Amino acid sequence: MPSFVDTQKCDGCKGGEKTACMYICPSDLMVLNVETMKAYNQEPDQCWECYSCVKICPQGAIAVRAYSDIVPLGGVVQPLMSSDSIMWTIQFRNGNQQRFKFPIRTTAEGSIDPKNDAHKGKDINNGLLTDEEHDNGFSLAQPIAIHGK
Ligand code: SF4
Ligand code: SF4
Repeated sequence: MPSFVDTQKCDGCKGGEKTACMYICPSDLMVLNVETMKAYNQEPDQCWECYSCVKICPQGAIAVRAYSDIVPLGGVVQPLMSSDSIMWTIQFRNGNQQRFKFPIRTTAEGSIDPKNDAHKGKDINNGLLTDEEHDNGFSLAQPIAIHGK
């Protein structure tokens, strides 16, 4: 399942002209019901679960209820951004909950030089994906904290 708005938490971005979720959705799926001032996903079947709206929502009102090929049906995934980390809350359908905290990139927006920063020391012509370049010293990000059972 796609993005899902908790209407108890959504405040319609306090009546702004364009809500944060409308601004960020690459597929223009999020719309605001101007009568209730609550946002919703107008075409859930078109949502590709990119999490952009989930991450940008200032109220933490959006979660993704994923398809069974990602997490079991009934599960909920919700990230919470801070200035230097992101906490992923995974709610399993049996009620168990786990949280994974990862550091995030703190490079100033727009300042990165892809060739000289992100790919520093890597052979960008070798045909491998970035996370396949283990021999080049790259390793996947590991959580800095895990909470829950
Ligand atoms: Fe509601 Fe969050 Fe969308 Fe703002 S970004 S309209 S608070 S769901
Ligand atoms: Fe749009 Fe991505 Fe949110 Fe789906 S998860 S509604 S595609 S921003």
